[in-house]
Amino acid sequence: MKLIYLSLLSILLSVLSLDVKATNYTDKDTVETKGDVLSKTPKKAGVQLVNRFDVFIDSINSTIPDSMPFYDWITNDIHIRKFDFSKVEDTLQVVLNDSNDHYTPPFKGNITSGFGKRRWRYHYGMDIDLNTGDTVRVAFSGRVRISTYSKTYGNVIVVRHNNGLETIYGHLSKRMVDIDSTIATGTVIGLGGNTGRSYGSHLHFEVRLFDEALDPTDIISFEHFKTHYDTLNISQCNFMYREELKMMAAIKYHRVRSGNTLGHIAVKYGTSISKLCRLNGISRNKILQIGERLRVR
Ligand SMILES: [Zn+2]
Repeated sequence: MKLIYLSLLSILLSVLSLDVKATNYTDKDTVETKGDVLSKTPKKAGVQLVNRFDVFIDSINSTIPDSMPFYDWITNDIHIRKFDFSKVEDTLQVVLNDSNDHYTPPFKGNITSGFGKRRWRYHYGMDIDLNTGDTVRVAFSGRVRISTYSKTYGNVIVVRHNNGLETIYGHLSKRMVDIDSTIATGTVIGLGGNTGRSYGSHLHFEVRLFDEALDPTDIISFEHFKTHYDTLNISQCNFMYREELKMMAAIKYHRVRSGNTLGHIAVKYGTSISKLCRLNGISRNKILQIGERLRVR
């Protein structure tokens, strides 16, 4: 914890370009994103200074570490590291719209699925209905960090914005921007599609801050195609959903394979047949289907 004066921080931000290492955070809750580690040995290719990210409004007694505005510019790994916002007491102000930048809707379509819990997986973004081939635009100005194909996201683009936020665009049929290119808000970055783990054409859109997902509806009105406010206040409240994730992490499922019986599964997970029946609302005589998911914890 450090006492940081705003003015001092601003000077530091404008002068420094150090590769400051942030604390390592482990995260076991990234249920959906596990498959998206594109490389186990991320290549470091310099660091981007995120400016305009230096305003703390609650107090000048900041609990945000110095390394916060700097984080690695990694172009081969979508999810770099998490920042543990549960320990941050400040409210951060992130400018969304001003004379330099403004929000552009990535695609004006209906929301088919929102941020939050799915049956055994967490959904970290919004699904926006579109047809394959529809143009997808970047939400704010910034620099393309990722343009690749991933098993889950399909053709995916990640853009880091000048205000510190990152946005992710998944399931594209075509990617139209290259890594490291600087793009203005509204630039067409690709065409909508149905690639990766997707059932039907749609855009999977995420908003993240230091790789921690934010509920996009906290920021954007998807009905009115604009942001709620010109400046976004981010505090611990925005990360309350992590409590839900912790509860989900305690729940475990087993996918039934050929030859499995309730007895086998109970032994494998150190539980009892009656408990399995209770958790899944089934009877002891139920015939298990291959591929079916049973809750075991
Ligand atoms: Zn989605």
